[in-house]
Amino acid sequence: MQLLKEKILSEGQALSEDILKVDSFLNHQMDPLLMKEIGKEFAKRFEQKEITKVLTIESSGIGPGLMAALELGVPLIFARKRKSLTLTNDLVTASVHSFTKQETNTITVSNKYIEAGDKVLIIDDFLAVGQAARGLVDICSQVGADVVGIGIVIEKAFQSGGKDLREQGFQVESLAEIAELKFGEITFVEEKEGAPINV
Ligand code: 5GP
Repeated sequence: MQLLKEKILSEGQALSEDILKVDSFLNHQMDPLLMKEIGKEFAKRFEQKEITKVLTIESSGIGPGLMAALELGVPLIFARKRKSLTLTNDLVTASVHSFTKQETNTITVSNKYIEAGDKVLIIDDFLAVGQAARGLVDICSQVGADVVGIGIVIEKAFQSGGKDLREQGFQVESLAEIAELKFGEITFVEEKEGAPINV
């Protein structure tokens, strides 16, 4: 998705060989026009799938998840990482290790909102080793819902998550795929063979 790639190149910061910071348009401040286009692009890529719910994980997945849900005309459910005082009954949980924070969270969804027979599109902001996506898949399988696709805003293709999930048969659609990060340098998958674009 060209607009997203331009934004990543102009505003993204490679903090290390593993971590990309996109706080100015996705993870802290959000660019609503870009988010709208992200929602449209996800809806287009999964339009054949008869999706009934979009599922994401708080907090960074909520923006792109909501925009996709709006375009698809279905509800968004976000898995919670913290215990909620009001979310008490009929909880489905999974364990997710956070790549960026180096901590393990128990994520929680009420089985009132994801049920057997639902066709679920999982959305997240980043795909690294795939722990977050796997936790959401786990929640769907516990309630008997079908995961019909996984939509990712930024996939770091040099990490294992995308390959593993595709090998397991999931349709994973990433709007920008990063081949390599170096301090101050971001290379997209298509440009790997050519000259890297410095930022
Ligand atoms: P995974 O579970 O696939 O290993 O990592 C995905 C989760 O970790 C995403 O929900 C995202 O919040 C966070 N994450 C992974 N890599 C990055 C990164 O390079 N930058 C940012 N901002 N978040 C990341």
